[in-house]
Amino acid sequence: MAVQAEATKHINAYEVALRQYDRAVAYLDLPAGIKSFLRMPKRELSVNFPVRMDNGDIKIFSGYRVHHNTVLGPSKGGIRYAPNVDLDEVRALAMWMTWKCALVNLPYGGAKGGVICDPYSMSQNELERLTRRYAAEISIIISPHSDIPAPDMGTNAQTMAWIMDTYSMTVGYSVPAVVTGKPLNIGGSQGRREATGRGVIICMDEALRRRGQDDPSQISVVIQGFGNVGSWAAKHAYDLGYKVIAVSDVTGGYYNENGLDIDDVLEHTSRNPHGLLEGYREADQITNAELLALECDVLAPCALENQITAENAHTIKASLIVEGANGPTTPEADDILMDRGIDIIPDILANAGGVTVSYFEWVQGLQAFFWDVEEVNRQLRRVLIKAYDEVINTRDQYNVDMRTAAQITAIKRVGEATRTRGIYP
Ligand code: NAD
Repeated sequence: MAVQAEATKHINAYEVALRQYDRAVAYLDLPAGIKSFLRMPKRELSVNFPVRMDNGDIKIFSGYRVHHNTVLGPSKGGIRYAPNVDLDEVRALAMWMTWKCALVNLPYGGAKGGVICDPYSMSQNELERLTRRYAAEISIIISPHSDIPAPDMGTNAQTMAWIMDTYSMTVGYSVPAVVTGKPLNIGGSQGRREATGRGVIICMDEALRRRGQDDPSQISVVIQGFGNVGSWAAKHAYDLGYKVIAVSDVTGGYYNENGLDIDDVLEHTSRNPHGLLEGYREADQITNAELLALECDVLAPCALENQITAENAHTIKASLIVEGANGPTTPEADDILMDRGIDIIPDILANAGGVTVSYFEWVQGLQAFFWDVEEVNRQLRRVLIKAYDEVINTRDQYNVDMRTAAQITAIKRVGEATRTRGIYP
């Protein structure tokens, strides 16, 4: 199944991440050497490995794990399974993880992993064998104290369970804290599954409240992507009374101008083996391009990077964009949207709910002491609203847009910590 829109293939996510970095770091008074150090990945592992397929064939897969920076603590970041994964994409995602963790003040650096594969066309047994072998290949650089993977596109709690089990088998005892986003019955955290989507809506709600738009029933929301992030964002928005008028996934967009019944949509996707929206009848079918250009108040891109570009930024009608996905907006599109007065809550703030509850899961795992869901959600909200406030303060201090403000806040923290630690040896 093709998972990337034709028009976005030529945009290199790592170049986007570097341009965002260059834009933000220019405001900071850091030594040039430290600026260069923060711009680069610390280490990169590429692996090629065999997997036995169900028909008996042996197929070779390629994967990566990149540690962008570990100044603030062990590196943290998801693992992506998709056909278009490449090293530059993983580098970009690892760099964004460094800024995201720093922005929400977690004691983590940034990492990311990926395997080139199409998880939608593989059986569960094939996915398990692929995951276990990839976990063994990257086990030389992951551990609860050095690098802690989590789910991302194409992976989920089950994938994390296989990684945790594989790692535990090689060391000889159970190590739940080596991954986060695990199932609850093996040390996962309450609230982790829905945390990223919930965080997207916490940020959206905060932005609207600050604008004086505090009646959810009057606000229409469009969500691109209906996987872990998009579906939970839709559910949380719907539960708060927002009018979610369109959602989409690889099979296209589903639109109802009066608002979709998200519980009904979720009931539909739960019956599809891959959780797809395909065949949902209580809505008009539209394309993903049409969905992005819908008349609405809020657009939440929650699928993949490079969705809002110089080619379609002028078609966007939302007045607020909340980035559930990583890197959904290119720098050229940022400029167009800014000129048009459209507000953006940037990815490293809007989708930081996932890594925040991952951090709570890691802490709970290391202490073997577990919290209830109310405590998790209360702490999540506290962390995100504090970060939101800090971004607004930085925005006002430097007179910049929200993305640059978020990056300045984060880069400053990592830069100053680098200075404090000093240069080894
Ligand atoms: P997922 O695999 O669960 O879902 C991805 C969704 O996007 C699916 O509904 C898929 O059908 C859809 N999609 C894929 N290609 C599309 C296209 N061309 N057009 C429209 N829809 C398309 O992945 P996820 O975990 O929900 O991650 C989504 C995004 O959020 C990614 O950018 C990821 O890096 C980011 N993110 C995820 C988490 C997390 O906790 N899972 C945390 C932070 C950020």
